[in-house]
Amino acid sequence: MADNRAAILSGAKAAHTLHRDLGIREQIERGGGGRVDVFGAIAKLGATLMFQPLDKLLGAYLPGEELGVLITTKRPLPVQRFTGAHELGHLYMSHQPSLDDASILRRSPFSTAGRADRQEREADAFASIFLSPAWLIALTLQRHGWSARQLAEPEFVYQASLRLGTSYRATCYALERHKVISSAQCARLVDVEPKTIKQHFLAGYEPPDWRSDVWLLTQRDEGLLIEGGRNDLFVMKLRENSGAGYLWNFDQLRDAGFALVIDDREDASPDTIGGVLTRTVTARSEDRVEGEVTLQEARPWAADTPLHQLLLRYDLRGPESPGMWEPELKRVLQAA
Ligand SMILES: [Zn+2]
Repeated sequence: MADNRAAILSGAKAAHTLHRDLGIREQIERGGGGRVDVFGAIAKLGATLMFQPLDKLLGAYLPGEELGVLITTKRPLPVQRFTGAHELGHLYMSHQPSLDDASILRRSPFSTAGRADRQEREADAFASIFLSPAWLIALTLQRHGWSARQLAEPEFVYQASLRLGTSYRATCYALERHKVISSAQCARLVDVEPKTIKQHFLAGYEPPDWRSDVWLLTQRDEGLLIEGGRNDLFVMKLRENSGAGYLWNFDQLRDAGFALVIDDREDASPDTIGGVLTRTVTARSEDRVEGEVTLQEARPWAADTPLHQLLLRYDLRGPESPGMWEPELKRVLQAA
């Protein structure tokens, strides 16, 4: 048990050191939030990162002259990212070669049960801390204005998990570890099926594939890079000053290849006069797209400046497909 504690500490310490060495915290703070770029970190440490349709394994770390990390394409992006972080831990701590199956997802690095060996314990702790350090959780909660009380609700934890790029369950455990929620709250949250949470946001709409993620976007997502999958759904809840003639225009989203599947308006504050409504528009991406769109709240007949704008930046290419990691491949091709 003492040995286990030592493994957790050395894995966590390595994760903090690598954050510092790669300037990851400064970079994320400058952008006001976002995910830890785990694949970029693997490339920066000089390893070749390959994605392959592995069946039995989630990933592998292969040291030697041809330093390499292998990740399966058969799992969703949060699992690919966790696997990448685990293999990055092996790489950074100069471990022995490792072939990792799905047991890396089931092991809790912070429990004292189980019999994984020392280097696996270290890589597990490294991965958890590397992807969701306390400062990143604090930054994410602050940016979105989520309170600890709200994070006891599955809907908020799920939205936090999408911003952090960690699975719903992993996010529950990270919030517990950093004492944002209690152990009892965590136990209740991990029992909730993500599909139930998605249904809550979709108000009766049935997506073609329930594995798609459902992002609730508000003005607090202005400029933040939305990193998701090719069929993800965006539920945009925006205040609309329709009493003064201002309307949000979603044409640009349609032009960028999104299908608008729901468009609803409801009274934001029925007690007050002034015609402020909450406009809820749900859009579905239909391709592996990346880019940005600026939505505007403007008076359709007037040429004056918009009342509000919302810049949405998105990269919906996940999960990673077979082959060399795309940015690295581009770099190699340019150098050739
Ligand atoms: Zn391992």
